[in-house]
Order: sequence, then C-alpha cells, then structure tokens
Amino acid sequence: MTLQNIYPWILRAQKEGWAVGAFNANTLEQVQSIVLAAQAEQSPAIIQISHRALTHIGSGNEIQGIKYIAAVGKIAADSITAPVSLHLDHGTESEVIQAITLGFTSVMFDGDGLPFEENISITKRLCDMAHSVGVCMEAEVGEVPKPDGKEFNESAIDLTDPDEASQFTRTTGIDTLAVALGSVHGLRAKSVALDLERLLAIRKRVTIPLVLHGSSGVSDNDIKQGISMGLSKVNVATQLAQAFTGAIRDVLNKDGSLVDPRKYMSAGRNAQMEIVRERIRFFGSSGKAK
Ligand SMILES: [Zn+2]
Repeated sequence: MTLQNIYPWILRAQKEGWAVGAFNANTLEQVQSIVLAAQAEQSPAIIQISHRALTHIGSGNEIQGIKYIAAVGKIAADSITAPVSLHLDHGTESEVIQAITLGFTSVMFDGDGLPFEENISITKRLCDMAHSVGVCMEAEVGEVPKPDGKEFNESAIDLTDPDEASQFTRTTGIDTLAVALGSVHGLRAKSVALDLERLLAIRKRVTIPLVLHGSSGVSDNDIKQGISMGLSKVNVATQLAQAFTGAIRDVLNKDGSLVDPRKYMSAGRNAQMEIVRERIRFFGSSGKAK
C-alpha cells in the first residue's frame, strides 16, 4: 500500500477507544521492524522520524535526511498491505515544509519556545499547506521535555493549559494535538504518572484526537487509561531503541570476532519488531486493518 494519511484511522481509534502507535526509526532496519510488525498484527501504524534522526540519516544535513527517509518510507509502505504513514516528529518550520513537499504523509511542527501567538500563526500556515496536499498535521501546546540524558526539573514541566489548547486547536485547524501531561522524552523506565485530571479538562474543551509523547517513561496503567480518555496517537521511541540496541549488544557480546553487520542488525530488527507488535496489541490496534 502507498504511504497513507493515517488521520482517518486516528479518528476511528478515538471513537472506539484505542490508539494508533507512532514508532520511531533512525535506521533502515528500524523502519523495516515497524512495517513488519504492522503487517504481522494487521494494524495501522506510523513510522515516526525525529529531527535528530533526520540529522543522522542525512549525515548532518536534515534536508538530505528527509529525502532519504521519504524514499525509504515509500518502499517500506509498498512492501505491506497494512496502512502506514510517514510522520515527521518535532519538525522545525523548514523541515515541515520540506517533509510535506517530499512525500511525508504526516508532520508535527514544534513551536516550542515561540510566543503563543507566533506559534499559532506559523502552525496555521503550515497546517493550511499540509491540508492542501492531504497531509495530517500535529502540533503541541505545553511541552513534553526533551532532557537528552541531562538532569531536569520535573516541577518546571510546562503542562498543557486546557484553555490554551482549545484556542490553539480552534485557530490553527490542526488534526491532532500533542499534550504535556507529565511525561518526559527519553526515560528508560516506566516511572512517570500522567496528569489524567488535566487530560479530562483538556478533553472537555478539545474534540480532536490527542497525542502522548514520551510513552516509554509512563506506566502502562496510565497509558491505558489515557487512551480510553482520548490519547489516540501514542509515540514510542526509547523502548524501541532499548530493544534494538540491547539485541545487538547481546549478539556482539556473545561473539567478539563477529564482523558481518547483517548478523547483528537483523537481531536488532527482530527485537524491535517484537516490541512494536507488543505495543500494537497493548494499544488495541491489532487486527483493526484486517
Ligand atoms: Zn515527542
């Protein structure tokens, strides 16, 4: 199947109380792990590419990274019958424009750090552009922190304000809204609880599907409850990286003389595929694309 605009699936998920998983990839094998898992589970899925993945894939040049991964994503989607989209996560304005132009079917603009009004006006402009070519548009109000391995102050998290979320959503016309409920990017253990009361308050004012970033650090119980309350796209990155790298580390530790990259990269691919499948089942999307 060609790369899809996955928005109709996210809407259906919202209506039926499950979620579409968005799975991060930085390498070819990680892209493959996602489509293989989607196919095995007959589930819609999102191949998600972060700003930093673009830098890696493009050897330091993000635009080159977008070109590479747009081509790879198309071939990956064509290789299966389950619906998948290619999503740019936390893009800058210029990256979002390039991604839309080069064939991504979903984009997120990260206006973090911009004044609210400016964030609104740029997001609206990008959203109009995305919609003119059938691309799904996500943006964020509040901020899920990206500590990048550094210490951070939990009390300083900019949680999503329900009124701002409502104003932002109505004015920009975005399809999905990323909300900050206490999760943090890059956590290696499920140690964080979500502010579900805040989610309820947002849900009362915002009708579009909501997105959870940083799910790897959130307890599964809270993710499950959050999904039933309208978190209809759930992003997973760190858990996948742990599985991918862990499997490669095991293979290399077992055989210090191994040199063939296929031997350890395939172990990484299989391990990530298993985690993606497990998450797909947990999110309730398994079998929905039968
Ligand atoms: Zn994120």
